[in-house]
Amino acid sequence: MQKRILITGAAGFLGSHLCDRFITGGYKVVGMDNLITGSLANIEHLFKLENFEFFNHDVTTYVNVPGKLDYILHFASPASPIDYLKIPIQTLKVGSLGTHNLLGVAKAKKARILIASTSEVYGDPLVHPQDESYFGNVNTIGPRGVYDEAKRFQESITMAYQRFHGLETRIVRIFNTYGPRMRLNDGRVIPAFIGQALRGEDLTIFGDGLQTRSFCYVDDQVEGIYRLLLSDYNLPVNIGNPDEITIKDFAEEIIRLSGTQQKIVYRELPEDDPLQRQPDISLANEILNWKPAISRDEGMKITFDFFKSLSNEELNKHEHKDFSKHIIK
Ligand code: UDP
Repeated sequence: MQKRILITGAAGFLGSHLCDRFITGGYKVVGMDNLITGSLANIEHLFKLENFEFFNHDVTTYVNVPGKLDYILHFASPASPIDYLKIPIQTLKVGSLGTHNLLGVAKAKKARILIASTSEVYGDPLVHPQDESYFGNVNTIGPRGVYDEAKRFQESITMAYQRFHGLETRIVRIFNTYGPRMRLNDGRVIPAFIGQALRGEDLTIFGDGLQTRSFCYVDDQVEGIYRLLLSDYNLPVNIGNPDEITIKDFAEEIIRLSGTQQKIVYRELPEDDPLQRQPDISLANEILNWKPAISRDEGMKITFDFFKSLSNEELNKHEHKDFSKHIIK
């Protein structure tokens, strides 16, 4: 019998790649998104397929999906620091109320649900690299608090549904992931640097650039999530690429990759910007037999070519959308 899966955040960067993966795997995919940060362009190639349906719906309100569901992937959430600042209340609501609604759907349909958590649950980590046993160092009231705390609540309520209702749940802690379909203007470092290089602007490093990140190519991330969903492991699992680099070295890599002579300029470091981040992926390796297969060199070439293929108009659309009408007062 063909399996049916609901994917929230389907029009987003990760959500749309997950739709592709499950369509390719022979599933019926129900996509859901309210398009605040997602874009239909990411899934328009799926609309002609019989195995794909799409609901334009905000999961913070009651979620109704007719028919059976075997699996749910809850990936709806703003996921960049600029978005948390612009839509902080929606960010809190989708992680908390949205998760509660989806857990309710999973319970009613007897579906297994996988929740997208994040390395942000570790905050500005005092343990390095971060493994799943680390409880984190999060500022609840800082600008990132709306995302970090929503995701921490999300993990708690998911475990409560698992323990209290016997629901089958999975939790993935996603570390920085990149690839085609990232939003050029989401403020994240990879689209920011590539956009700047392609437009001939200076690359903006926040702080001294000695902070580190570890970037995972999207196909590797999606494969890890796919395996976790189908595994029988029900506690949080880190998925990311441990290959760590300073933001300054990364800026220089992008300048080399683009073959341009861009200058680097330094800007103020945003509040609570984590100093270092690297996933410990021993657990994923052990239980899912997973590790990333795509090097940063390889992944960045594909990503750079994706952005290079955008029209000039798209490339220059780097002013941010006006989100004010979406903010719940
Ligand atoms: N960053 C930067 N210049 C930019 C955008 C981001 O130096 O134009 C830095 C940012 O301060 C952070 C790192 O790059 O230290 C990664 O930022 P991103 O927003 O991509 O992800 P996160 O901080 O959530 O890991």
